[in-house]
Amino acid sequence: MDEKNLHLQLLELQQKYIRSVPDRLQILTEEITQLRAGQTNSAPLKQLYRLTHSLKGSAGTFDQQPLSDAASRLEQQLQHLLTENHPVDQATINQLSEQLRRMRNLPLKDTSQEHTANTSDSACPVPLNSRKNMDSRTVYVIEDDQAQADEIGYQLTHFNYQVKTFQTLASARSAINQQLPDALLVDICLAEGMLAGPDFVDQSQQFTAEQLPLIFISTRSDWKARYAAACAGGRAYLTKPLDFTRLTETLDELLLEEGQEPLRVLIIDDDLLLANHFKLVLQQAGIQAEVVSSANKVLSAAAKHQPELILLDLHMGEISGLDVAQVIRQHQELFSTPIIFISSEKNLRLQYQALLQGDHFLEKPVPDSFLVDFVLSQGRRSRHLAAMMYHDGLTGLLNQITLTFRLESELANADRQNKTLHLVMLDLDNFKQVNDNHGHGVGDRVLKSLARLLKDRLRKSDHVGRLGGEEFAFILPDTTTEQALTITEELRAHFNKLTHNADDQEFHCSFSAGIVSSALSHDGNQLLEAADMSLYQAKHQGRNQSCVYHGQKE
Ligand code: GH3
Ligand code: MG
Ligand code: MG
Repeated sequence: MDEKNLHLQLLELQQKYIRSVPDRLQILTEEITQLRAGQTNSAPLKQLYRLTHSLKGSAGTFDQQPLSDAASRLEQQLQHLLTENHPVDQATINQLSEQLRRMRNLPLKDTSQEHTANTSDSACPVPLNSRKNMDSRTVYVIEDDQAQADEIGYQLTHFNYQVKTFQTLASARSAINQQLPDALLVDICLAEGMLAGPDFVDQSQQFTAEQLPLIFISTRSDWKARYAAACAGGRAYLTKPLDFTRLTETLDELLLEEGQEPLRVLIIDDDLLLANHFKLVLQQAGIQAEVVSSANKVLSAAAKHQPELILLDLHMGEISGLDVAQVIRQHQELFSTPIIFISSEKNLRLQYQALLQGDHFLEKPVPDSFLVDFVLSQGRRSRHLAAMMYHDGLTGLLNQITLTFRLESELANADRQNKTLHLVMLDLDNFKQVNDNHGHGVGDRVLKSLARLLKDRLRKSDHVGRLGGEEFAFILPDTTTEQALTITEELRAHFNKLTHNADDQEFHCSFSAGIVSSALSHDGNQLLEAADMSLYQAKHQGRNQSCVYHGQKE
């Protein structure tokens, strides 16, 4: 969806809301006619209060301030009647009717009319993040040394980058004019001159406008070259011979913001127009938002969408958002998902109660841009905390406990669907020597490069973790033993080919693998033990190979 399209959809929602206002007011009018003089705390009075309350919130969100203010005044009056516990008299009923009549005559603001002459982007409340597609990370390499260019292409391809190399600036320029890459790698000295790389970038406005991640590479490491690179907007400067692990790390880091998966938010609100408004506003900021409008669908929607943050209405028709929050909290997977209540509730006691169940309370109407900022900042923190809890600090893979949990739940899935999964355990070969020869820091980089390779090469539905030290494991749901072996062998071949660097030396590493099928057992611990035994066998047979467990079926 592009920016303009979203903007039009927001306007369309506003118009739908405007069209729904007479009906909403009509229902209020009918409730007033149900009021009887002499009655105290009657059902119509309570209903009237509830409806007025939500009208105040929704009118504010759809930019109908006069209506929202009028509803707010009416709400206060009704609240007064309810808390005072006094019988309603006819004069009050008449006055309420009169107030409602005035509300029906209030002018409604139609933003689309204001912008008919000018539908420029400035009408858009929140700028759209221009996100690049994670699957097609293209790197252009401008390098006149063909052998060096080929080597860069070869190494980066292992990490899922698509590389195009250019030996001349003219060929690079015409490719860039056709399509901008996700990142650009430029040699400083080219056939065109000693500082031709930075000069070329300096002259190309597009790069700076798009803030394209730009890395300079060179055999030169003098101040003049580095200065020219920095002035041209280079975000990193790597000297040759290139350290490919560092190069991929740098590219990863630069592309991280764009590459990150969008934040997942679940919006629970019984007012569909309002919920869809929030959804569109969040979508404009690159957030993946889904709407549920009835409480009984919350759990299935959460299971499907896996929200990292929940926006919850406090009053959902007959059902209280507090109860919905409690149901959410009872679910283990959702236990630590932040819940943000959004409500026009002014009652502090109720707000406190909401905070006991949830994490934040935002009072309606919430300005669109604030909602986006708030959701993004909370979402980032939530993601960060989840990452620390479930992932290994060095490699970012799942930690041992999380992987064990995943194994249990995937085994249960396999059981239910009558499918077979495979567990693969890896251990780096003679890794102690890497540390001894090159130092622990270099060893860490090797561990990271393997982690990166596993993450990139395996399917999204697979689970990859670091069991500790130089031991890794991954779960392949719904696979045959033949497929599991092929996948592992491919990974092994890729890893063998990676070049690691330490000072001026290059070296290669390998791993051994043990593979076990869930046909052996549906007990996670037994599978881990069996995989470990096969891994040991692979080591015993000479390392740098994979062994499938062929034990007795129990
Ligand atoms: P084998 O092929 O039999 O597995 O030999 P190996 O040398 O890989 O195995 P060994 O168990 O003897 O040594 C493992 C080494 O892994 C020892 C330890 O220093 C290193 N190691 C474990 N965790 C880390 C880590 O987080 N970073 C680094 N750099 N090294 C680690
Ligand atoms: Mg080892
Ligand atoms: Mg080991």
